[in-house]
Amino acid sequence: MSVQRSGIRARMRAELEKIVGATAVDERPVRDLWPLAIMDERAGKAPPQILVVRPTGRDQVADVLRWATSNHVAVTPMGAGSGVCGALSPAAGEVVMDMGAFDRVLDIDETNLICRCEAGVNGFALEQQLNARGLTLGHYPSSLPGTTVGGLIATRSSGQESSRYGSIEDMLIGLAVVLPDGTFAAPRPGPRSAAGPALHQLLVGSEGGLGVVIGAVLRIHRLPDSTAGGGYAFADIRAGLECMRAVMQAGIRPLVMRLYDAEDTAFNGSDLDSGECMLVVATAGLKDVAAAEAGAVEGFAAGAKKLGHEPWERWQRHRFDLSADRLKAFLEPAGAYLDTIELAAPWTVLPDLHAKVKSAIAVGGLALCHFSHAYEQGCCAYFTFGGSGDTEAEARTAYGRAWEGAMTAALELGATITHHHGVGQARARWVADEMGGWMQVWRAVKQGIDPEAVMNPRAVGGTP
Ligand SMILES: Cc1cc2nc3c(=O)[nH]c(=O)nc-3n(C[C@H](O)[C@H](O)[C@H](O)COP(=O)(O)OP(=O)(O)OC[C@H]3O[C@@H](n4cnc5c(N)ncnc54)[C@H](O)[C@@H]3O)c2cc1C
Repeated sequence: MSVQRSGIRARMRAELEKIVGATAVDERPVRDLWPLAIMDERAGKAPPQILVVRPTGRDQVADVLRWATSNHVAVTPMGAGSGVCGALSPAAGEVVMDMGAFDRVLDIDETNLICRCEAGVNGFALEQQLNARGLTLGHYPSSLPGTTVGGLIATRSSGQESSRYGSIEDMLIGLAVVLPDGTFAAPRPGPRSAAGPALHQLLVGSEGGLGVVIGAVLRIHRLPDSTAGGGYAFADIRAGLECMRAVMQAGIRPLVMRLYDAEDTAFNGSDLDSGECMLVVATAGLKDVAAAEAGAVEGFAAGAKKLGHEPWERWQRHRFDLSADRLKAFLEPAGAYLDTIELAAPWTVLPDLHAKVKSAIAVGGLALCHFSHAYEQGCCAYFTFGGSGDTEAEARTAYGRAWEGAMTAALELGATITHHHGVGQARARWVADEMGGWMQVWRAVKQGIDPEAVMNPRAVGGTP
């Protein structure tokens, strides 16, 4: 590092230490789990040392943001770093705001079913605290143990039980936010308000590009009395998707409903006939309701082979197996690549989307898909792909080709380019194609709230 740059960094550090205290500033490489960044690092491109501040209260957050705005220094909020799109990927000379000290669950109101917590609370720890009182948020991304509430909100995330409880935007009553000029916006009264637009929703999916979420007011639920889970084997994905559509359009809100295509079924070790597709489904609620809904699901799955309770029990045992550690282990060998792409489309589009994306991502050998996060109107299609190249360059080319093919297919068929991982850098090239005129709205909001463009320069595809 040049003498001049190290001098600037030392000055920045000293100024930040005045705001948050010397023990709350350190320097280290920071990045999320974007596979391309992991591949870059493996190939020898070391991430830069970043100044990381760890504020302990709202005033410190506001003071750091005011400092950043007046000094034109980019600041990226950080939760647990489990994002997979390269949204958390600061460049040299920027600052990261670690929200780890905002780790308090402030109130669990068991009568009104409202939870107030700070943004750095771990998603799994929050769910455990709720479960201990017979309650649930119902938000179960596969990465839950490695997430924070603020990160879940800022990435517009969705969990395994979304068909019943909705995604993170449905769980929010209000948000506590600090804007780049230090303005504090407190949660407004709930459970719903028509006093103007629900502006807190602007922060949901903003990837740290508008301000810092410091707290949330969340809808919670009583844990269901009973759960009835099982599995079915369908001859193909069309038949399985028809069953899922019928379940949702009958008004049933299963706790979990996931259809694995033939390759994903085999990959999961299910002992089914070649080409069969497994549906894992569970209903929940009062005992009689869960049982009656399970009976109705069985009716909609009339053409399928019944597999009993075992697939549901197995799925529960492995629901968090796709961890950050496994992702990193898979990407360790030189030339290896692995990633996931989650799209969403109406029911009528899903079979075509499945066929086109599968053929686009099959370049390296591993190409799997499952359907989960169902709505009356359609569903998410979650693709996993991987392979290895003889060289790092070959791996990058195959990886890039898979992404290009998947994004092109999604845009051509009118699917969304992301259901729940977000944009970051991974989808920067395609986000304007999906958003169209809404990109102008996003830019205007960003310009209005963050005129000096200091908040995360890599949010939602990057500052234009
Ligand atoms: C193995 C694996 C499985 C996954 N499964 C799922 C899944 O099932 N569903 C799903 O939705 N996602 C999934 N993800 C993606 C990831 O876990 C989510 O994106 C998660 O929401 C990120 O939370 P985080 O606290 O780690 O945020 P980070 O990665 O730290 O940050 C993500 C983004 O949010 C911003 N941000 C973080 N905190 C704040 C804040 N307080 N205020 C403002 N902006 C903030 C950051 O600047 C960044 O842009 C998975 C990831 C992995 C590695």
